[in-house]
Amino acid sequence: MNPEAPPLDNVGWLARSLAAVWHPCTQMRHHAAKGEDALPLIPICRGEGAWLYDFEGNRYLDGISSWWVNLFGHANPRINAALKSQLETLEHVMLAGFTHPPAVELAERLRALTDGVLGHAFYASDGASATEIALKMSFHYWKNRGKTQKNRFLCLSGGYHGETAGALGVTDVALFREAYAPLTRAAAIVPCPDARLASANETAADVARRAAQSLEARLAAESGSIAAFILEPLVQGAAGMVMYDPEYLRLARALCNRYQVHLICDEIAVGCGRTGTFFAHEQADIRPDLLCLSKGISGGYLPLSIVLCRDEIFQGFYDEAIVRGFLHSHSYTGNPLACRAALATLDIFAQDDVLNANRDRAHKLHAAFAPVFRHEKVRHPRQRGMILAFDVIRDDPAFPRRFYRAALENALLARPLGNTIYLMPPYILDDAEIAHLGNAVYKALTAAIT
Ligand SMILES: *Cc1c(COP(=O)(O)O)cnc(C)c1O
Repeated sequence: MNPEAPPLDNVGWLARSLAAVWHPCTQMRHHAAKGEDALPLIPICRGEGAWLYDFEGNRYLDGISSWWVNLFGHANPRINAALKSQLETLEHVMLAGFTHPPAVELAERLRALTDGVLGHAFYASDGASATEIALKMSFHYWKNRGKTQKNRFLCLSGGYHGETAGALGVTDVALFREAYAPLTRAAAIVPCPDARLASANETAADVARRAAQSLEARLAAESGSIAAFILEPLVQGAAGMVMYDPEYLRLARALCNRYQVHLICDEIAVGCGRTGTFFAHEQADIRPDLLCLSKGISGGYLPLSIVLCRDEIFQGFYDEAIVRGFLHSHSYTGNPLACRAALATLDIFAQDDVLNANRDRAHKLHAAFAPVFRHEKVRHPRQRGMILAFDVIRDDPAFPRRFYRAALENALLARPLGNTIYLMPPYILDDAEIAHLGNAVYKALTAAIT
């Protein structure tokens, strides 16, 4: 008997985690709280498909793809096999001065997915870094062109682009922004074309046109000092799954062209098929100048982010002088294992015709949520592809945690964003799992509202 053997139950791991691990975006004291304020911490021993299992045999349907990253389930046999073979070949090599097949193949395949428009891939490890890279790249491009005064950024109200200091500057989530305001350089904010703002005789496209007028006024006045406009196409995730009409993207694209400002599409959350097309911006028939990808691109396996850019931007750095080159690197830039996971993920998209299959899945999801959407406390039910959300009329601050606990008790992982409840499941749910999702949300809602 080994007295040091790790405890095999939830309670043991829970205690050790609370003592040693500082959990992200969490008031740690809530994990110790009881009653209304309690926030359970669940030790997970394994995952399989859409399910997570704890140490006591309870299972939870991963309704939010483990923070929006997991596309094809946990322990996916195809991604596992690709990673095992990569592991036997090359685990890592620095990408400065060296290159390797997974980084090259992934860049080529992403270029093809943008019809060749975004032909150069810059690698990093997480979403916030991709934002930092896109902002720096835009600024430095204009600087190389002699337009040094273009050193500010524009973002949408409610936009979220990550939590490092630079990314926080273009993030308009009050909680984050206010806590660290003195550390950031705040971007200018233009109104979000939130479809919920439509008045009785307005469409979502009308709201988009109205918001675009504000954008135009801002650009007309300040484009000389603005390098780029960054937005989350179609759905603002962290703001509470705020959805808007593609018309806004079309107008924003035209205005950015007219006023010579880069358009950065942050598809970290909405890319990789989440909204129904592989890239969300495709639904507006546009291409950005810079595109940020992360989260789902590695299938939810490994940290990886990518910034894709147009050839014109790349050429703006092509020079003898080192200082005119792009000055940015991370130790794990272009990690071969992460790139291999991404290639395996793209293989699944191609081999299983995932976008088509998801159309069917999205219809079934919608049907499974009909009873939830009819609930008297539910407002603004909305869906875009594999994102489903609604707001709950409820003003007590304990509601989100109460819902979260009730969902767990109904074998579902779903973390509300304030009073917005959303589902962002992996693209593998079968009919029974879709029904479970709808039922569990309905039960959790009923339990949390009383
Ligand atoms: C999650 C997210 C980020 C930040 O990615 P991290 O990997 O968490 O740093 C940036 N933008 C959007 C739209 C996101 O959803």
